[in-house]
Amino acid sequence: MATIKKVLITRQGRKFYAKSLDEDLHTQYGFIRKEELKEAKEGSLLKSNTNKEFFVFNPHFIDLYRKIKRDAQIIPLKDIGLIIAETGINKKSKVLDAGSGSGALACFVAAIAKEVVTYEIRDDFMEIVRQNIEFLQLKNIKIKKKDIYNEIEDKGFDVVILDLPEPWKALESCSKALKPGGFIVSYSPSVPQVADFVNALRKNESFVYLKTAEIVEREWEVEERKVRPKSSGIGHSGFLSFGRKVT
Ligand code: SAH
Repeated sequence: MATIKKVLITRQGRKFYAKSLDEDLHTQYGFIRKEELKEAKEGSLLKSNTNKEFFVFNPHFIDLYRKIKRDAQIIPLKDIGLIIAETGINKKSKVLDAGSGSGALACFVAAIAKEVVTYEIRDDFMEIVRQNIEFLQLKNIKIKKKDIYNEIEDKGFDVVILDLPEPWKALESCSKALKPGGFIVSYSPSVPQVADFVNALRKNESFVYLKTAEIVEREWEVEERKVRPKSSGIGHSGFLSFGRKVT
């Protein structure tokens, strides 16, 4: 995967990515000379040959993250936000994630946690995750070919995050992998999955159930005094259920 050297944003918020500083960057608004791109300071303003203005940035984590490979349906940022907020994942946290899918969630969490282990059963997805880890240059994430419904060899996790079809099947293995007080989070797109997961969690003596929530993010249009919700955009992603490991 080609790295990204610069991120350019127009005053209207359109983004362009320069993958090389040895070539001019061509856009629908004309081109920007490679010499100017190379010398541009973080946040500076450049003009294309047609005088269109672009602000130039060095790629930050989130810029790169938005360009990772996606094969499986990745979890949206709004939902990652709630997982991090509810569990308090931080630089001391050890996190287990399954299934990896494209590794989007695992990589995002790795950028803020101490250590992430991600389990995946499919080789093709594991390969995508490897590429994404390399693209984001993350050093604290391990991918393993493992079925999380079976025994988990890794232990001592602060948080386990499940994004797979039958999360209730992972309760037994997760209860052994989590530290007492640790969090279990399940992300599921459909209501029967939520019912089966939460009912199983409530019956399991290793966990206390906390809550289930859905994040609805509504983007607004702000143009002078025309300020209103965008007319399209709200779709459905998934529900998040949270529990906590007891002793
Ligand atoms: N959260 C991921 C997307 C996960 S998609 C992201 O943000 O990119 C669900 C993945 O779970 C699929 O890749 C599937 O192969 C994997 N999976 C399904 N059952 C599994 C199991 N029992 N153990 C580990 N991975 C599993």
